[in-house]
Amino acid sequence: MSVLEKVPVREQEPQERAANFEEVCYGYNKDEAMIEASRCINCKNARCVKGCPVSIDIPGFIAKVKEGNMEEAFHIISKSSALPAICGRVCPQETQCEGVCIRGVKGEAVSIGKLERFVADWARENNIAPQPATEKKGKKVAVIGAGPAGLTCAGDLAKLGYDVTIFEALHEAGGVLLYGIPEFRLPKDEVVKAEIENVKKLGVKIECNVIIGRSVTIDELMEEEGFEAVFIGSGAGLPKFMGIPGENAKGVFSANEFLTRNNLMKAFREDYDTPIHKGQKVAVVGGGNVAMDAARTALRLGAETHIVYRRSEAELPARAEEVHHAKEEGIIFDTLTNPTEILTDDNGDVIGMNCVRMELGEPDASGRRRPVEIPDSQFTMDVDTVIMALGTSPNPLISSTTEGLDINKWKCIVADETTGATSKPGVFAGGDAVTGAATVILAMGAGKAAAKGIDEYLSNK
Ligand SMILES: Cc1cc2nc3c(=O)[nH]c(=O)nc-3n(C[C@H](O)[C@H](O)[C@H](O)COP(=O)(O)OP(=O)(O)OC[C@H]3O[C@@H](n4cnc5c(N)ncnc54)[C@H](O)[C@@H]3O)c2cc1C
Ligand code: SF4
Repeated sequence: MSVLEKVPVREQEPQERAANFEEVCYGYNKDEAMIEASRCINCKNARCVKGCPVSIDIPGFIAKVKEGNMEEAFHIISKSSALPAICGRVCPQETQCEGVCIRGVKGEAVSIGKLERFVADWARENNIAPQPATEKKGKKVAVIGAGPAGLTCAGDLAKLGYDVTIFEALHEAGGVLLYGIPEFRLPKDEVVKAEIENVKKLGVKIECNVIIGRSVTIDELMEEEGFEAVFIGSGAGLPKFMGIPGENAKGVFSANEFLTRNNLMKAFREDYDTPIHKGQKVAVVGGGNVAMDAARTALRLGAETHIVYRRSEAELPARAEEVHHAKEEGIIFDTLTNPTEILTDDNGDVIGMNCVRMELGEPDASGRRRPVEIPDSQFTMDVDTVIMALGTSPNPLISSTTEGLDINKWKCIVADETTGATSKPGVFAGGDAVTGAATVILAMGAGKAAAKGIDEYLSNK
């Protein structure tokens, strides 16, 4: 095999996987990982590390994989990341570490994500866990939300010796990792729950079914319960809709609801009672990762599934790998198409969706070419289910119940990028709650930065 090419990764066959929820990608075995690791030239000034939002010592861990010392490779990764088996699966490596890897100049970048995943899976299978702090600080910190931002912040603070409690609104920890990203991309029991257990092994306590702003407020946590600092990692879970006629019909869902029923509430499993509207012909409106996940889930539940996206394929914001997988599985892409109305029968059930054709005009504020409607291009799509995957924004519950916490016009919490500090002393924030919907690794990076900020704040208090 040429050194210019990645060691290929084994995957479930498209036809087979389109009908099940098992993981698509099998990952590397030890031999494959060691061969792939030998492609890394251990750059002195490694660009891949600069491309990683949590600055993992990538050449360091890859060198250990090359030697076959997986335990040491895991400890190197664990210094920077609490969730490597998750990141190895869902990070957009092609635009981060692998996007700048020197190997990518003449050939294919080193498969950093697949190597990270291999090491983390190996550590789990061999019961290797990160080490808890030996010295305790005797100071309590509250973390709101058990998504990647909260888990990372909590893990880093626990490593520094703080007494950390995460308060999570749902009945299980994980955030989008658990309720949003489907099982076939990110197995829940094997991977997500196992990595959360590692965070708990560092000493972090997780209290589920606690909605901050309803069960208890931030001010009460600080004034009555003895928490000296608070980190808000409450994400951006409020779905957006188009505002077109018929959007309240039976058979129209937000991608969040559809995915939560399936992933968190296990609607796809025979042994669970969670109801889900499976649909025969499903249109998923949107072109990001969330749209791909909703479409691939609807397909696995048995529907003919279309992605309806108003720009062209080149502008699809989803990861290239997700688009590729969706196509292989048989998702139909209706690009340059925009819905204008959802049609219903006398019972209020969806029976179709009116759309118009679009073409690309001049670039807009985002730098992408603006989609413009083609006159007299209206047509009706024959669908019985519509899933809106148009993005999400932060829920205003926390900001509206916390005195002195500034938000911006998108309802995102205003926080300092390097320390996570908000306008309220002792309160820090990061992840989607600050940036709006982004990525797992950016949320983790923000959680790390805030853990440092909190440590500095409490050390100087
Ligand atoms: C379907 C889907 C697919 C995605 N795919 C990818 C991908 O492939 N790669 C990638 O990098 N990113 C992906 N993302 C984005 C990524 O998952 C998010 O950017 C990331 O999870 C944000 O992390 P977070 O910790 O800020 O928030 P979240 O993961 O949203 O976690 C926030 C947590 O806070 C809890 N919470 C909210 N309000 C309260 C409250 N008042 N009190 C207590 N708890 C509260 C929530 O229940 C939740 O558990 C995807 C997102 C979705 C929805
Ligand atoms: S840039 Fe690529 S080749 Fe260089 S150290 Fe990083 S992974 Fe290895």
